[in-house]
Amino acid sequence: RAKQHGRGCVEVFHPEMHAVLMERLDLEADLRRAVDQRELFLVYQPIVELETARVVSFEALARWNHPTRGVLFPASFIPLAEETGLIASIGRWVVREAVAAARRWDESLPGPRLGISVNMAASHLRLPGAVDEIASVLAAAGLEPTRLTIEVTENELVREHDEAADALYALRELGVSVAVDDFGTGFSSLRYLRQLPVDCVKIDRSFLVDVDTSPEGLAFVRSIVGLGTALSLHTVAEGIERPTQLAELRRMGCRYGQGYALAKPLNEPEVVPWLSAGTPVVAVS
Ligand code: C2E
Ligand code: MG
Ligand code: MG
Ligand code: MG
Repeated sequence: RAKQHGRGCVEVFHPEMHAVLMERLDLEADLRRAVDQRELFLVYQPIVELETARVVSFEALARWNHPTRGVLFPASFIPLAEETGLIASIGRWVVREAVAAARRWDESLPGPRLGISVNMAASHLRLPGAVDEIASVLAAAGLEPTRLTIEVTENELVREHDEAADALYALRELGVSVAVDDFGTGFSSLRYLRQLPVDCVKIDRSFLVDVDTSPEGLAFVRSIVGLGTALSLHTVAEGIERPTQLAELRRMGCRYGQGYALAKPLNEPEVVPWLSAGTPVVAVS
């Protein structure tokens, strides 16, 4: 690929390749301004305790309201942010914004305090001071560290002697929880689950696809839940789209779930009204 030949190297492109490259360069320049110009925003997807149908927390998911392209999903800008090093400034903004939102919910809602989960790139966590910054944000906002969960994808946690592991220990020290995201899709050894200070595994949505239609699919998810339980980890099933999937997860004792069958991601102004309305999150059977 051209990138490997370094900048300023002349190469012959097909016109389509040229178009793709120009679009990428455009998007990269745009992304540099997006944080400052407040074009990023967060949506919040409920995480539900399956047994009780109670909403226990929300996961913050990034969106980019691009001036000409409309609302973009993370798949179209997070990888670019990682390649260009913009991921840390986006990550800092996400933490501040999500923590502030959780404090606003505290003011508007009686009852048990909600947790807030934030996705973070391991490359960001590896930067010196990353955890100190999170600590400062929590202190400034007055949010109990135990209410924050940092989600890191399994795939990013597989290096030996990784500074990201140090960051995870520092987070635990602080009282912040750590979740392994997209669990089951990476190449990590199960050993990591024991070694790293992890509190929660999020079972990737791809495993949920046939949990309600195939005995093998069911056995797979059940074994991940069993592993989590054996290691005293919380288990969250991602991407529950059908009541039949939900029923199987409840039956096998998966404690938490997330997915369109429970609730889609909400815009921030919708969160409090949605919770106050009594939350039509599927009946407990
Ligand atoms: P994730 O953390 O695994 O988030 C779950 C994704 O699945 C979200 O997609 C969510 O909208 C989607 N989803 C939830 N329930 C369902 C369902 O029932 N069915 C289906 N088909 N999809 C469902 P989204 O928002 O497009 O985010 C994609 C990924 O981008 C996230 O996966 C996360 O890894 C990453 N991401 C999102 N926000 C951030 C961020 O602020 N920072 C970083 N570093 N990564 C982020
Ligand atoms: Mg996540
Ligand atoms: Mg996930
Ligand atoms: Mg996932």
